[in-house]
Amino acid sequence: MTVHFPFQNTYAALPEGFFARVAPTPVAAPRLVKLNRPLAARLGLDPDMLESPEGVEILAGKRVPNGADPIAMAYAGHQFGYFVPQLGDGRAILLGEVVDLDGVRRDIQLKGSGPTPFSRQGDGRAALGPVLREYIVSEAMAALGIPTTRSLAATITGESVMRETALPGAVLTRVASSHIRVGTFQYFASRGDTEGIKRLADHVISRHYPHLADAEHPYHTLLEGVIARQADLAARWLLVGFIHGVMNTDNTSVSGETIDYGPCAFLDHYDPAAVFSSIDEQGRYAYANQPRIALWNLTRLAECLLSLFSDDKDQAVDQAQAILGDFPGKFTDAYQSGLRQKLGLFSRRDGDEALAQDFLDAMAKAKADFTLTFRRLSDAAEDASRDNNVRQLFADPLTYDEWAARWRQRMGDEAQTPAERASAMRAVNPAYIPRNHRIEAVIQAAVGRDDFAPFEELLTVLSKPYEEQPPFADYAAPPKPDQRVLRTFCGT
Ligand code: AMP
Ligand code: MG
Repeated sequence: MTVHFPFQNTYAALPEGFFARVAPTPVAAPRLVKLNRPLAARLGLDPDMLESPEGVEILAGKRVPNGADPIAMAYAGHQFGYFVPQLGDGRAILLGEVVDLDGVRRDIQLKGSGPTPFSRQGDGRAALGPVLREYIVSEAMAALGIPTTRSLAATITGESVMRETALPGAVLTRVASSHIRVGTFQYFASRGDTEGIKRLADHVISRHYPHLADAEHPYHTLLEGVIARQADLAARWLLVGFIHGVMNTDNTSVSGETIDYGPCAFLDHYDPAAVFSSIDEQGRYAYANQPRIALWNLTRLAECLLSLFSDDKDQAVDQAQAILGDFPGKFTDAYQSGLRQKLGLFSRRDGDEALAQDFLDAMAKAKADFTLTFRRLSDAAEDASRDNNVRQLFADPLTYDEWAARWRQRMGDEAQTPAERASAMRAVNPAYIPRNHRIEAVIQAAVGRDDFAPFEELLTVLSKPYEEQPPFADYAAPPKPDQRVLRTFCGT
């Protein structure tokens, strides 16, 4: 019996300079921590086979499956604003691509599977904590309906990795609609390799924007397409309180998926300036800065595409600027329409933006929990007697009362029943998010006690973020003061 992966690899067929051919480094004693069975099935893989000893060896990088063409992808990137001409997959290996049951091509990549020619000083490995963290948060994002890479499996390698202390080594099997980043374009642009940029752009168009292939100016429309998806993604992040933490250009996917979960975090109390990442000392990637940074990253992408826009440099720059100029409007539209939905508004009226902003300002002032406040507001929309649950979250309840009077007046303009409004609100205001203190507790149990029950339970709760789950009501609660996690780490 062999585990069958229906690979159809296209990236590995690109010219040699796009990647390095390298196999995963075999590990001592692989053990499966988690297989995402529903995702495996959607990829056309047999979950039972993946759980077999042979399947686990593949997921841990001890055995290369038939049809795989393992490569480490080349890319560059701006890290915290500074350009690094060569980064690349230093601890990840793309096994290959499969076309899923929806007809979408997906990369299957092992992260933490050993050194590659791009490893620089790194060991090419990953520790169990960050692997569990990425598994939890990426799957939570998917359940929240936010474009993201997925997690197919987590395995333990049976070897330790040295960080500040020795930690259990692990491999994450990541699934993405591709791993092509803004930094992939930068890799070729910084080498003056115009042909490479064109090959890459054509690959991205056929893979992610196939409807553009026949456009009059396909490379301009490609930039428009990436901008539209990134504007939408940044809005969605803000609407659920997500902070990516390392929005470097090498961590910005041209497919518009959230990628590279490192020191990411969700807001507990609402604070636009919130930063959790221990390496983000200047707050470059603070919560409310994310749309600006997305535009900065897209500007770097536009620079890479200039040579494809026009032979006349000035003309190319003008064209790029005109396209980039659409980002703020696209972001604001997506963000404001999301806020209206969070407030239960079905139509769009003058004054809605101020209504939403005043609520956010009051939350910031009161340090009200972002997720809980909107969830409770959904109940209050159904029944004003539940206002009290929202008021309690504000240090000065009068601010809420005054605001709620305006909100109710505004809702009175619309025909929807309170029950309809509340159910629409509950479909966009999650009860359950992957709170930092919960993730920490899961990691401590797994790393410290080899106990994965808390990991499983958290995954179960987060798989239905918009549904009340009475047995797990505690998971909706913000951390108590002594449980608050103020710093997250990239774990490389
Ligand atoms: P990240 O911060 O995970 O986005 O990684 C930034 C760069 O560092 C990428 O080129 C990674 O491949 C590389 N990298 C991170 N951790 C390691 C590691 N343990 N070994 C080798 N390369 C690494
Ligand atoms: Mg990265």
